[in-house]
Amino acid sequence: MNNKKIKLSRKEIFELIIEGFITVGIMLLVNFALLIIMLLFNEEDEILHRGLYSLFHGFLAPSFGANLLSFPNFFYLFFGVFDVLVVVWRLLRRYHLMEMRHVITAMQEIADGHLEKRIDYQVNRELQGVVDSINALVDSAVHSMKEERRIEKSKDELITNVSHDLRTPLTSIIGYLNLIEDDPNLDLATIRKYVHVAFVKAGQMKYLTDDLFAYTKLTTREINYNYTTFNMNDLIEQLTADFELEAEKAGLELINDVPSEPTMVKLDSEKIGRALSNLVSNALKYGKKGTFIRVVLEDEGDNVDIKVQNDGPKIPAASLNKIFERFYRVDESRSGTSGSGLGLAIVRNLIEGQGGEVRAVSTHDLTSFEVILPKGKTGAA
Ligand code: ADP
Repeated sequence: MNNKKIKLSRKEIFELIIEGFITVGIMLLVNFALLIIMLLFNEEDEILHRGLYSLFHGFLAPSFGANLLSFPNFFYLFFGVFDVLVVVWRLLRRYHLMEMRHVITAMQEIADGHLEKRIDYQVNRELQGVVDSINALVDSAVHSMKEERRIEKSKDELITNVSHDLRTPLTSIIGYLNLIEDDPNLDLATIRKYVHVAFVKAGQMKYLTDDLFAYTKLTTREINYNYTTFNMNDLIEQLTADFELEAEKAGLELINDVPSEPTMVKLDSEKIGRALSNLVSNALKYGKKGTFIRVVLEDEGDNVDIKVQNDGPKIPAASLNKIFERFYRVDESRSGTSGSGLGLAIVRNLIEGQGGEVRAVSTHDLTSFEVILPKGKTGAA
């Protein structure tokens, strides 16, 4: 912030001038009175006269030069310097009071709701400390308020999205069950068909509520990460083994590509497993038109780099930076495959919570989700 000196009003300048005059007046009176007292004593009191004289000649004259300053002149000079100092001190005191007044007015303005305002005065050192602290306090209060509003807004969005995504399958379920109830003569095959649709829709609702539960658990509570040292190669091999059958059914080749040497990391294996499972199940869900899913692990020194790749349809460039937002689903996937739009938001939370990052790139040939994680201090396990 560019701090400026306070700008004195006419009234304040006038106040300063009056203060100066009054102080000069008082000092002249004091000087005059002192001079008279001294002269009186000087003449009447031999001892005081000698005392003052020897003080001058013994200590002061050798340093200042006896010729330069005669005895009375020294006292005039002393009074003069003293008077100037007193006047400057009084004026400065008054000026500092004015600075304080300006600061209080600015504070009042902020307190009245002008939260965009800051106290941008350059004032004396002590007051500057207070001003800087007040500015920092206002900054952090404004930041907290904005954060609060953002959270409030995002809660509203969450409720709207959840109600919408739950209502759609629920309406279907009610619709099909109604059909069954309204027509007592329906044949068994039709009833089965309707029940099956209701069952699938109920499954979608469960999927959404499960994801929602996982997501809110991750974002609203303090998550405890349980760091242990393990070989990331094993985790990747286990992961691909778990999805082997599903991939085979979908006609996709599931490949894992891990280094020959063990890749030791100190991370929360369970949470990484969950995040990677989400990525592989997405690759299965959205990569059906492709031919393979590949999970690649690379040891990058302090980090490990895990890529979950598939050759299904490309994610549109405009959606790439949005897919990690909660409830975001690329348009066709809203109408086609079922999902909550929370899977990648969960992945991001789990990975960032362990100091890592996740990003996606997608071309016509390959969609790749890349997770970069710090290995952690594996030696301390
Ligand atoms: P959900 O899968 O429940 O819709 P996600 O958060 O897991 O939610 O994914 C968000 C969107 O990202 C999906 O709707 C989909 O459009 C897109 N997506 C995610 N993974 C892939 C992938 N491997 N290939 C193509 N699109 C993907």
